[in-house]
Amino acid sequence: MDIEFPGHALPRQYPHNSETRPPVLLSLIVPLFNEVQTVGLFLDRLDDVFNEHPFIQLEIVFVNDGSTDGTLDLLLGRQCRDGRIRIVDLSRNFGKEAALTAGLDCARGQIVVPLDADLQDPPELILEMIDLWRAGFEVVQARRVDRKSDSLAKRLSANGFYRFHNWIASPKLPENVGDFRLMDRVVVDALKTIPESRRFMKGLFAWVGFRTATLDYARSPRVAGASKFNGWRLWNFALEGLTSFSTAPLRVWTYLGGLVAGLSFLYGIFIVLRVLLYGVDTPGFASLFVAVTFLGGVQLIGIGVLGEYLGRAYLETKRRPVYLIRQLYERNN
Ligand code: UDP
Ligand code: MG
Repeated sequence: MDIEFPGHALPRQYPHNSETRPPVLLSLIVPLFNEVQTVGLFLDRLDDVFNEHPFIQLEIVFVNDGSTDGTLDLLLGRQCRDGRIRIVDLSRNFGKEAALTAGLDCARGQIVVPLDADLQDPPELILEMIDLWRAGFEVVQARRVDRKSDSLAKRLSANGFYRFHNWIASPKLPENVGDFRLMDRVVVDALKTIPESRRFMKGLFAWVGFRTATLDYARSPRVAGASKFNGWRLWNFALEGLTSFSTAPLRVWTYLGGLVAGLSFLYGIFIVLRVLLYGVDTPGFASLFVAVTFLGGVQLIGIGVLGEYLGRAYLETKRRPVYLIRQLYERNN
């Protein structure tokens, strides 16, 4: 276990496993998009983990992100038997980031943990997270030390992404840390004050800061069903992260332009001097062609990058809500 902590006094200390400590309301936020195969297994596992801990009161906020496979019906059935379940039914599929935002807005717990329904985020770890929270940390993030469950391509691209992102963006993202983390109420309230509608949650989690501890865990494969994130979706997710937290791709063109202009100027002087000294030379067709097409390509990339930011700024100015709720299902007991 690796704890990053500045070392001043911890405000909230209760004796380990003491009967005297106050019960705590824990909100689990579970985004669901076509998870009919996993929800039952997920709930069973929660029972295994939390039934022996009466000092943890559970609220399970399922955010149904436009599922089309009967996930909602299954949830409603389970809710009849289980009063801890609350269901936020979104009007369509808004994506995981929006679903998480909806869950954070609805959660009432003193501590909040977003986790996936496919059991890739082990609920057992939450008990360790709570111990660290009781010791005074406001955020306890989980870091995947073993990504064997991911394909080689996904591992390599994730690695490249973190490296590039942390090179150009600020604040830095902790490597291999996903959305699975424990957050104190104060952190959740801070997240709720962020008005932006294009939400890259991992970046926002890092941006809010707070006293943070890190727990390592091995990421297991999905219990059932298939991942909802294909290569194209991940690529766009990465672009979202980079453009949300860095303007370096916009600024680099100033320097690149300056460099190219400077080199052209020097080359111009060289040509003038050569003509003065040796007379008119036959100009090189090949070098001209290469220079024109290369610079044309570079300019198009520059315009593309501008477009990425302009498009995002355009969407942000519309101030549309991040998600829409069709109905909130909760039992009043
Ligand atoms: N998810 C969602 N909306 C989406 C895509 C995914 O709410 O548009 C949920 C999904 O149901 C799961 C979690 O996000 O609970 C993580 O998805 P997945 O396991 O497919 O992602 P991976 O683990 O492969 O990154
Ligand atoms: Mg998964």
